[in-house]
Amino acid sequence: MNKTVLLDVDGVLANTGAAIHAYAERWFGRSFPKPETWQSYSFFQALGLTDLEAKAFDNMLRVTDEIGWTITPYPGACTFVETLAAHRDVVFVTAPWGGLKHWVVARDSFLRNHFGRYVDVIYTGAKHRVHGDALLDDHPETILKQPATASLLSRGVLFDRPYNRGPESAGLRRVGDYDAALDVLLEMTR
Ligand SMILES: [Mg+2]
Repeated sequence: MNKTVLLDVDGVLANTGAAIHAYAERWFGRSFPKPETWQSYSFFQALGLTDLEAKAFDNMLRVTDEIGWTITPYPGACTFVETLAAHRDVVFVTAPWGGLKHWVVARDSFLRNHFGRYVDVIYTGAKHRVHGDALLDDHPETILKQPATASLLSRGVLFDRPYNRGPESAGLRRVGDYDAALDVLLEMTR
């Protein structure tokens, strides 16, 4: 039986930061730091919004309820998934965005459109509860929750982004691009 690799979506396959950045610039009518430079996992913080602005932006995202439709994959993401899926079972594990009614429908559509042949998806923020042999994620907290000693449970690999290089991620296994991710994930799940 093939081993299973769990793939996080936002920040790993989906360039959610770019969609949020574009939305923020359009809505506030001014420039914000580009996602490639973001130093915080929270996009409110990464954009440098005041508390009041963050609240208004969050409210706007809920009222318009369409951000999920504007998200595109990172270059190379589709080839990465296709190559990985030729050797392992791939399951997308992605958290619903509470309060956005369209989010799961848009995410299903995103996955089907870009990774059509591989649409096994589990919606949860509690990724440490999902069974799998390896997990690729961009959030150190998610990796740290992985039960590292249980070989049948998920084991985490951090996808390198500027916002996940803080001290909390020291010692985590980290990959910088899809080629490295492929090598490490295949090796871990031999
Ligand atoms: Mg993510």
